[in-house]
Amino acid sequence: MLPYGRQTIGDGDIEAVVKVLRSDWLTTGPMVSEFEQKFAQSTGAGQAVAVSSGTAALHLAMLAAGVGAGDEVIVPALTFVASANCVRYVGGDVVFADVRSDTLTIDVEDVARKISGRTRAIVVVDYAGQPADLDEILSLARQYDLIIVEDAAHSVGAEYRGRPVGSIADMTTFSFHPVKQMTTGEGGMVTTNDLRLDSKLRLFRNHGITTDHRQREEQGSFFYEMIELGFNYRITDFQCALGLAQMERLPEWLTRRREIAARYTSAFSESPHLKPLTMLHDRESAWHLYVVQLQLDTLSVDRSAIFSRLREAGLGVNVHYIPVYWHPYYEKLCNQQVYCPVTEDSYHKLLTLPLFPTMKDEEVQRVIDTVEDVLSQSSIGTGDGRSINSIEVR
Ligand SMILES: *Cc1c(COP(=O)(O)O)cnc(C)c1O
Repeated sequence: MLPYGRQTIGDGDIEAVVKVLRSDWLTTGPMVSEFEQKFAQSTGAGQAVAVSSGTAALHLAMLAAGVGAGDEVIVPALTFVASANCVRYVGGDVVFADVRSDTLTIDVEDVARKISGRTRAIVVVDYAGQPADLDEILSLARQYDLIIVEDAAHSVGAEYRGRPVGSIADMTTFSFHPVKQMTTGEGGMVTTNDLRLDSKLRLFRNHGITTDHRQREEQGSFFYEMIELGFNYRITDFQCALGLAQMERLPEWLTRRREIAARYTSAFSESPHLKPLTMLHDRESAWHLYVVQLQLDTLSVDRSAIFSRLREAGLGVNVHYIPVYWHPYYEKLCNQQVYCPVTEDSYHKLLTLPLFPTMKDEEVQRVIDTVEDVLSQSSIGTGDGRSINSIEVR
C-alpha cells in the first residue's frame, strides 16, 4: 500500500540524534535554542518557541492570546480537530466558519458574519499547504481587535504574497508529526514577532515558571517562581537535533513535492471526474497534501465506494477532513446547530492522494493510472454492476 504521506529519515538525522544522546543535555539544552533560532530565521519570524507537538503549540497560542471562558474563537469547520480543541482547552467557545469551495481555506465573508462582541481570536488553517487569505483576515482582525493564530501544520515552507508563512500572523503554529513535511517524531513550534507573546509562550510551555533549569544552573541559583498555571510542553534536545537536520533538507523536499503535485495536476487537468484544488497565484503551497474533489455528478457511485476501490488497488488514499462539528463531542456541544454548506458538500467529494518526497516517478504514474482507471470504471453509463450509492456514514 502506497501511503498518503511518509517521513524521510537519513543517516544524517540518526547521527545528529545519537550525538545528543551522548551529550550532557537531553532536554532544554543547546539544541532547542539552535532549532528555534534557525526556524525563526527561515520563516522570517522574530521569535520561535519549540514545543512538544503541534497541538501544544495551538494550546499555548490560545493561552498567550488570553482566550478564556466567555470568549469566542472562529475556526474553519474543515480541519483537523486540534485546530478547534485548543479553544476548548482554555474554556472558550468554538464558532465554526465555512471554507472557500475552490481552496478549502477559511471563507473570509463567513468569518466576518460570525464576528460578535465576544470574539477574541481567529484560527486560520493553511489547508493542504496553501496559505489562507491572510491579508483579508488580518484586516478584519485590526478592525475588531482580534488575535490571528495561523495553524500552519500543513504549510511549513509556504509563501504568501512573497512573505514566508511564520512571519505574518500574530502567532503561527507548526507541527512536526511524521506525516508533515519535516519531523521531530512528535513536536511543534510557535512563531511570533511580538516579544510579549513570545515570553508568555515560553512561560506557559514550562509550568508557568519564570526560568528554566538550565538558566538556573548557569546562574548558580535554586530560586524560581511560578506565576501562571502552565504546562510541560517542552521538547527534548535530541528531537531538536532531528528537527535541525530535517530543516536542512526541507527545501529539496518541498521542490520534490511541488514536482509531484504538478504531475498530478497536469495528468488530471482533462479529467471530467475530479478537480484538484485551485492554487492561487499570489501564494505558494508547501504541498502537505494533494487533495482532489470528485465530480460526483459524473460518477455512478459515491466517494466511499471510490475510496474503497482505490484502497483495494493499493493506494493509501485518505479524507481530510470530516467536518469538525460532526464529531460527537462537538455535535453535543453545539446542539447540532452548526451548518457550513461548503464544508459539508466538499466533505462528500474529498480524496487525498499519496504525496511524499521519496515517491518514485513510477509510483506517481501508478497513482495517476489507478485513479483514472477506477474513475472511468465508476463513470455514469459504464456501471460495473456494483452497488450504486453505498450508504455514506456521516
Ligand atoms: C497535524 C495537525 C495538527 C496537530 O499537530 P500534532 O503535532 O499532531 O499535535 C493541528 N492542526 C492541523 C491542521 C494538523 O494537520
